[in-house]
Amino acid sequence: MNLNSEPAVCSTPGAAKCQLIIFHFLILINLVITNFDSIKRSILHIDLDTFFVSCERLLNPTLIGKPVLIGGTTSRGVVASCSYEARRFGIKSAMPMRMAQQLCPEAIVIRGDSGLYSKYSYLVTEVIRERAPMYEKSSIDEFYLDLTGMDHFFGCYQWAIELRDQIHKESSLPLSMGLSINKTVSKVSTNEAKPNGHLQVIAGQEKPFLSPLSLQKIPSVGDKTFAILREMGLEKIHTVQQMPKDLMQSLLGINGGAIWDKCQGIDQTPVIPYTERKSISIERTFERDTIDVHKMGSILLAMAENLAFQLRNGVKLTSCVTVKIRYADMNVYSKQKRIPYTSCDRTLIDLTKELFRSLYDRRLRVRLVGVRYSHLVCGGHQINFLEDTEQQCQLYQAMDMLRKRYGQDAVKRAAALGSRAIGRVNPFNGEPPIIPAHRRA
Ligand SMILES: [Mg+2]
Repeated sequence: MNLNSEPAVCSTPGAAKCQLIIFHFLILINLVITNFDSIKRSILHIDLDTFFVSCERLLNPTLIGKPVLIGGTTSRGVVASCSYEARRFGIKSAMPMRMAQQLCPEAIVIRGDSGLYSKYSYLVTEVIRERAPMYEKSSIDEFYLDLTGMDHFFGCYQWAIELRDQIHKESSLPLSMGLSINKTVSKVSTNEAKPNGHLQVIAGQEKPFLSPLSLQKIPSVGDKTFAILREMGLEKIHTVQQMPKDLMQSLLGINGGAIWDKCQGIDQTPVIPYTERKSISIERTFERDTIDVHKMGSILLAMAENLAFQLRNGVKLTSCVTVKIRYADMNVYSKQKRIPYTSCDRTLIDLTKELFRSLYDRRLRVRLVGVRYSHLVCGGHQINFLEDTEQQCQLYQAMDMLRKRYGQDAVKRAAALGSRAIGRVNPFNGEPPIIPAHRRA
């Protein structure tokens, strides 16, 4: 409202005074709204129900209504996802597959298709991206949306229900959601709304909502922490709500304080905007400029191998490889080549070596080398039945398993042993990674 644009109204001192009072009233209202907004956020949590199983059921409807287990089928495999019908037998995610099959021998076991799940995850992400003001993709099937301020224009809960209907319409996947003032309460309310439901916890009702629930419902309380809490006689959130924070901290340290906050319905964690990476790269500057071709080749090989692992870990494929060289005179040269989508070590390493050979002219000392994979898309590696033997596939899977468990440098090709650690961050967790651009070799 522009009060100065209507000077005729201020023709008498009484009218001007009245107008000033209205003006201050409007400022006050605005301040109240602004402060209210800064305290009371609207955070929506979305979770696709038994996501892997739901994707498999879209392809094979005969699985509907049956106990289904998805995960490793070897003797050391674990359950990655299971249907509600399987959960009735006491089966949970991360349980050894062998134990799950003992609990429910009639369960249908599926090895899983990461490419299929990535495709549906991407489809859902696109529906959310087109509509939400800000969202965080916290895993392949979970999202947080910050809807703060939208209540001035729409009802947040009504908007969320319409979004849920739209996701279901476009993907045919069942999903649940919870709306509250923070991430913890929203996630707990999503779990309470499952399967295929929605729930809102009105601001101010966080403590009464959480109170009757088991402490195991708090997102950061895993099986081990819950066992410790239960030994102390703590099973319900209500009990922790009555305890002093200091006592929880003395029992469980910093983690105890964080659990106490969550039990009170307190969580200031922000929604971190999600950005899809279109390329990943590693560069390394040599401590001394070099003409040692063997050393450069070894480092490039380690880089190519490391990036290929990061692709597979993030369920991504690349179709463009670039090799870069900066010479001692600071001139930069690069060469790239398009290839069919892949995340295969051998293909990417061979291409990196080929590009380096055609790029390096051996007349000048080299200051820096780098590798970039771009044109990334979601998808798992497709086995090449003509080239990939069973032993090779098993070898690659075993190497990736060791890297996931013991770090990315736990295992590498002998030719890459001359290089030091290359990188340790998975870049596909929703945040750009901290890739050391100029580490000393
Ligand atoms: Mg889920």
